[in-house]
Amino acid sequence: MRATLATLLSFVIVASLTACGGDDETPPPVARERQAPPPPPGVEAVDDARLVAAGGEKESWLTYGRTYDEQRYSPLAQIDAENVAQLGLAFSYDTHTTRGLEATPIVVGGVIYTTGSWSIVYAVDAKTGKEIWRYDPQVPGEFGPKACCDVVNRGVAVYKGKVYVGALDGRLIALDAKTGIPAWEKLTVDQSKPYTVTMAPRVVKGKVIIGNGGAELGVRGYVSAYDAESGELVWRFYTVPGDPKQPQENPALDKALPTWTGDVWHQVGGGGTVWDAIAFDPELDLLYVGTGNGSPWSRHIRSPQGGDNLYVCSILALRPDTGELVWHYQTTPADTWDYTSTQHIMLADLEIGGAARKVLMQAPKNGFFYVLDRATGELISAEDYVEVTWATGIDKATGRPIEAPGADYRENSVVVRPSTLGGHNWQPMSFNPELGLVYIPANDIPWAFGVDEDFRHKPGQWNLGVSAKIASEMPRDIVSGRLIAWDPVGQKKVWEVPYPEAWNGGTLATAGGLVFQGTAHGTFAAYDAASGKKLWEMAAGTGVMAGPTSYELDGEQYVAVMAGWGGAFGLAGGDAAASAHELAGKNQNDGRLLVFKLGGTAQIPVTAAIAREVAAIAGDLDPEKVKLGTYAYHTWCWECHGIGGVAGGVLPDLRTSTLFFSDALEPIVFEGSLAAKGMPNLSAWVTKEDLELIRIYITAKRNELAAKQAGGAAPAPSTDAAPAAAGGR
Ligand code: CA
Repeated sequence: MRATLATLLSFVIVASLTACGGDDETPPPVARERQAPPPPPGVEAVDDARLVAAGGEKESWLTYGRTYDEQRYSPLAQIDAENVAQLGLAFSYDTHTTRGLEATPIVVGGVIYTTGSWSIVYAVDAKTGKEIWRYDPQVPGEFGPKACCDVVNRGVAVYKGKVYVGALDGRLIALDAKTGIPAWEKLTVDQSKPYTVTMAPRVVKGKVIIGNGGAELGVRGYVSAYDAESGELVWRFYTVPGDPKQPQENPALDKALPTWTGDVWHQVGGGGTVWDAIAFDPELDLLYVGTGNGSPWSRHIRSPQGGDNLYVCSILALRPDTGELVWHYQTTPADTWDYTSTQHIMLADLEIGGAARKVLMQAPKNGFFYVLDRATGELISAEDYVEVTWATGIDKATGRPIEAPGADYRENSVVVRPSTLGGHNWQPMSFNPELGLVYIPANDIPWAFGVDEDFRHKPGQWNLGVSAKIASEMPRDIVSGRLIAWDPVGQKKVWEVPYPEAWNGGTLATAGGLVFQGTAHGTFAAYDAASGKKLWEMAAGTGVMAGPTSYELDGEQYVAVMAGWGGAFGLAGGDAAASAHELAGKNQNDGRLLVFKLGGTAQIPVTAAIAREVAAIAGDLDPEKVKLGTYAYHTWCWECHGIGGVAGGVLPDLRTSTLFFSDALEPIVFEGSLAAKGMPNLSAWVTKEDLELIRIYITAKRNELAAKQAGGAAPAPSTDAAPAAAGGR
């Protein structure tokens, strides 16, 4: 793979020699009378009519999925299969972050509005990359550990002069689009609970729609609508019932309550968080949201006497004015595998069986591609888009999955596909309506499930109800990914591009007959939309997860994407995530906005890796203590520092961390001395004895690494030695 990257880099240099020349054509006589084309109207002129008609604006990308139907299809065709080989970097903009970047850039009025780690918002000139303003909401570092899946943010919404961002700590903030100065901010969550916000808000009929996450730690899910002008709360829809002894907030929850049993769910929160997908059909006046997994994960603990647990892992159709539930479709009743239905919801009008159907499409984590009638929620079809072992299919009559024998891990632990990371996760899909194909960034990852026999609710900590020890024993070298072109009418794969790594980027489809996608191994690529043939690829400096955007300015088409490795897999993926990061070049994971155009000649600045000698530590490696340390580590540390002690390339790898093997360790763990950087104070949970066992385990893993590297290999870089760049927490 190194040779491949070297080849790519040499291609960049070649591409830089093919810049377009200037336009020296003599202007025709009428040119003096002709006015320069008016600049595309900015955020001040984004209203409901313009959002509904967003598909026609070539110079803009007005909402997260480009259009309310979230198809992510650009009508631009200047860059096509014939000339894409001449694509090069127009400019890059450094976010000064070293954590995951997941935002889809919004483009309007010649300005890119995007976000980075810790919910920082950037306004950048869409032609030059010059910063116009940046806004740091100053999210306190102690909110970092509440985020299951890195301190990421998926972008902003824009409307009538304002830019809206959901901050990790649960604030919804409206900024003046011209200055980046806050107009108002509202707290959308109870900050004493482990809620976080990472999703991009959407503006629908003058209301800002925003949900939240936190179901791994334990919260009750909901989605809210705030008045875009004043910030007042208009409605809130809870997705799971509240205290069963109290009246429920709405009739839909009265119906849901009998589908829950026991009382652990209420104590932990129940889950069903709305943390990503939203779509809107203005004609049907329906707002679609996806809900997350049950909390805790294991249904045997969450709802011991059974029940579907409405409305977890569901697609909900709500009235945008009131939040009233019109219909629901639960993709995974009684979920016990973290099979969220928060993944991309896409709307399209398809001809199926000779009839025009208004459909909703989703490829949720559970591995099935669903096509629903979006007026009624009726199942039209569902087939597996990756290998699925937990169910043998979806019953067309009932719309329910047919669970495979043994997938329920109440009695015996079992390896299941897809994993908790999903056959597909939040990485956006895209749709080419000409070809009728959906482009799915898919994962092939197995997961070992077993019940956590010693489960007790630990407020504010991870509360999965599944055995992390069993998960830690999974072989990690059988992880891969794929780009799949899916025919939603025939419910079949048309082509695929295999990847050696999982967790590749979101996709963009264009009228130029192309599909763009970033990769976990640190490149940005273009494929032929009809055949999947790779037409172009360029090194991106680090792993790319985010969904790309395209826009046109002064007659030139641009393609923009955020590059910054991380997210759930980047943090916890262990060896597999680390190998993707290694392929990406080990460059300290500097975050950037990358913008490409034909003939672009800019270069990505590469930061040299900081390699440090790892001091030899003599540890007490009593095998029994190493074993106990394995359990302690996989109780308190693995979610951020990686399964098996192997970090995914985002947060410090403890094996090579000089801080871990220093006197600073106890103040870090017991006094919160790194709380501002996101490392929680664990004094309420971890004992000195636990920490000593964790130290012994990590010492064993460090020695293992040293043995692997013996023979003159360079010492591994220590990620906690990275310089604290501005904003680079
Ligand atoms: Ca989850």
